[in-house]
Amino acid sequence: LASLEVSPKPTVLRWNSGATGGGEVLIAAGPCGVESLEQTLTAARYVKKHGAQMLRGGAFKPRTSPYSFQGMGQEGLEILAEARRQTGLPIVTEVVSPEQVDLVATYADVLQIGARNAQNFALLQAAGRSGRAVMLKRGMSMTLEEFLMSAEYVLAQGNMQLILVERGIRTFEKSTRFTLDVSAVPVLKSWTHLPVWIDPSHAAGKRDWVTSLALAGLAAGADGLIVETHPEPEKAQSDAAQQLTESQFADMMRKVRALLPAL
Ligand code: PEP
Ligand code: MN
Repeated sequence: LASLEVSPKPTVLRWNSGATGGGEVLIAAGPCGVESLEQTLTAARYVKKHGAQMLRGGAFKPRTSPYSFQGMGQEGLEILAEARRQTGLPIVTEVVSPEQVDLVATYADVLQIGARNAQNFALLQAAGRSGRAVMLKRGMSMTLEEFLMSAEYVLAQGNMQLILVERGIRTFEKSTRFTLDVSAVPVLKSWTHLPVWIDPSHAAGKRDWVTSLALAGLAAGADGLIVETHPEPEKAQSDAAQQLTESQFADMMRKVRALLPAL
């Protein structure tokens, strides 16, 4: 179902604030995790001001360690809904288990399935049945063929509103958190009609490198970006090293617009 041979026309997903696919590019930005109403509203207002069309923020965080901050849960979803009410930005937020899909889908515009759950087939199917758009991250050790097979689990439920995200893969290189596979963009776009995005934040792992990876992804033809930014990144409860400051985010957006004047 993902194949260009089945559907040769690009899939375009639209919200009031913008669209992705078929030549339209959308920027989703916000904190890694929702930590408070104030933090989320502050980020939502400035990402909108600098030109983002969607707000990201995790209420359920899939942490490597069970002792790390796991997110605010339903309270975090309420905060995201308030940020949407105040800014008009649609919300993308992660869902980590099939049982939580209904809850998250009552708040989210886009259900995010993370790299660690990219082959959680029950979760993919539940997200496919939710009626919401789905944003699927590539697993950190997944081939692109495996990635598209995961996408099929969503599509096979009758849900064609699906965004694929390259967020970096495991290689022998240790200087970055993951290695951004920029090739994923042209390769996936030669196989599928679905929008393909880049997440430069989780690939870089370090805020100073995020803008370069974002621009590389867009230059390669990505249909969107999902980028982490936090009003006080050094105080963040997750992914502190990679979240852009507001001024770095504004600078990235200026460079993005220089590359894509239509945005
Ligand atoms: C995230 O977006 O905060 C996240 C956990 O991403 P990934 O699943 O790509 O690691
Ligand atoms: Mn993160």
